[in-house]
Amino acid sequence: MPGSAADLPRAARPARRRFLLGGASALAAPLLGAARASAAPSSIADPALPPVPDGFTPGPDEALRWLVEGNERWVAGELLHPHQTVARRRAVAAGQHPLATVFSCIDSRVPPEIVFDRGVGDLFVVRTAAQTNNGLVQGAVEYGAEEAVTPLVVVMGHQRCGAVTLAVETLNNGTEVPAHLVEVVEALRPAYEAARPLPGDQVDNTVHAQIRLTADQLREDPLLAPLVAGHRVRVLGAYYSVDSGCVDFLPS
Ligand SMILES: [Zn+2]
Repeated sequence: MPGSAADLPRAARPARRRFLLGGASALAAPLLGAARASAAPSSIADPALPPVPDGFTPGPDEALRWLVEGNERWVAGELLHPHQTVARRRAVAAGQHPLATVFSCIDSRVPPEIVFDRGVGDLFVVRTAAQTNNGLVQGAVEYGAEEAVTPLVVVMGHQRCGAVTLAVETLNNGTEVPAHLVEVVEALRPAYEAARPLPGDQVDNTVHAQIRLTADQLREDPLLAPLVAGHRVRVLGAYYSVDSGCVDFLPS
């Protein structure tokens, strides 16, 4: 059963998950750094959200459902702004347990906490130009999944990505880019090559290829792969429309 206590490799993890959801019985071990020695609050429930049963342990499917519901609110203009209060800040000061890791582009139009209508302590967010991956990024995602037990990893690209457009134009024309932009372009070369033979919009095809290739890289990560195989973590690609605000989750 995904996300069940039996799947968890460490005895403390069920308590951490209860802490995330903020049931009245939450007695989590604080998670990060100096917070490890601090006492956890008894509840971090948000009145803006539907109530969560005590002891409920979210799995990948529940985390995905909450992101989908938040995005639906964003698209419809019916935001709840959950977990954006002083009470929430205080509640998670001693420890955190986000429900998902979102790896997305730096684009100013694609802020994960807003497009999924979530708040403080809900998401790990990793952002690079066109969600280009490297060892540091992969280590950050590993941290979220292994140490903080986030059950869902979302690799989110988006419509009209400027970094992908730059890479496509540079590689199409054989031109050069300055300084460290070379690394961004080279990181996008595999997606560019994968998308080049396809009909249609080359930039959009490259965005989709970059999402797919990056999600595959994360699924094959030596630390994440056993978690994925054990159904404790799910890695999904997603495409964000800057026109509609809608996030489409892609088949894995
Ligand atoms: Zn972008």
